[in-house]
Amino acid sequence: MSDLFNLHGRTALVTGANTGLGQAIAVALAEAGADIVAAGRSAADDTADRVRALGRRCLFLQADFGSTAPLQAVADAAIAFNGGIDILVNNAGTIRRADSLDVTEEDWDAVLNTNLRSVFFLSQALARHMAARGAGKIINVASLLSFQGGVRVPAYTASKSALAGMTRALANEWAALGINVNAIAPGYFETNNTTALREDAGRSAAILARIPAGRWGRPDDLAGIAVFLASRASDYVHGALMPVDGGWLAR
Ligand code: NAP
Repeated sequence: MSDLFNLHGRTALVTGANTGLGQAIAVALAEAGADIVAAGRSAADDTADRVRALGRRCLFLQADFGSTAPLQAVADAAIAFNGGIDILVNNAGTIRRADSLDVTEEDWDAVLNTNLRSVFFLSQALARHMAARGAGKIINVASLLSFQGGVRVPAYTASKSALAGMTRALANEWAALGINVNAIAPGYFETNNTTALREDAGRSAAILARIPAGRWGRPDDLAGIAVFLASRASDYVHGALMPVDGGWLAR
């Protein structure tokens, strides 16, 4: 059974792996045996230390996903690190909170470029490589706002709802190439992304009251689903959006 989830000999490219959910996913994949390429705009020293402490290799690639300019170079360097990329985790994402009456074009573009446009074109660059090898796993980090409207985050909701559709669209095309495209939809997790919500006593209490598990998610809560979607255990899973939300969507 453990072989189903074994990632030894695999290499994963994880975006935004310096902190939060991306860091937890990178460390979980390394625990399962994968070497890690961490790509993002902030150095990922802590993640690299944790990956290396597990006996795995780690490379950091500096890149700002607010534009598509660095994507091909990231893909090429990631592939060159170990001679191939088996797993791509599109985790890097940004959020801008404002009343919809006040959202600017700059807010809109920053969110859509990072959360959607760069995800598509990095996936395309890696899928060309994976298709040539006949195998690959692409894991998008979606959101509850892939299903729901949210409050004061219209660009974020648009990006994550589109990411859900894109996950299904790419799965339809790329399953036949040996590539699994799926998404994790995290609920409310304790990371930088939700600092403002957790510091707002009213919003925080309202959110907590709706979570059947009775607590915010901790980044490590994504370890199991990430390893599952990266491993042979999910070979027949395509185009799925998997909520990990303490039961939020069941309410
Ligand atoms: P986080 O701590 O803010 O991490 C976001 C990551 O994305 C960081 O590594 C950040 O880099 C990176 N990033 C943002 N903009 C970037 C850009 N332009 N170029 C390169 N990297 C960029 O939040 P998180 O919660 O771990 O978020 C990870 C993913 O989970 C995001 O896609 C988010 O939308 C999603 N998510 C989070 C929650 C939650 O409750 N926390 C729920 C649902 C979905 P820096 O550190 O340099 O900013």
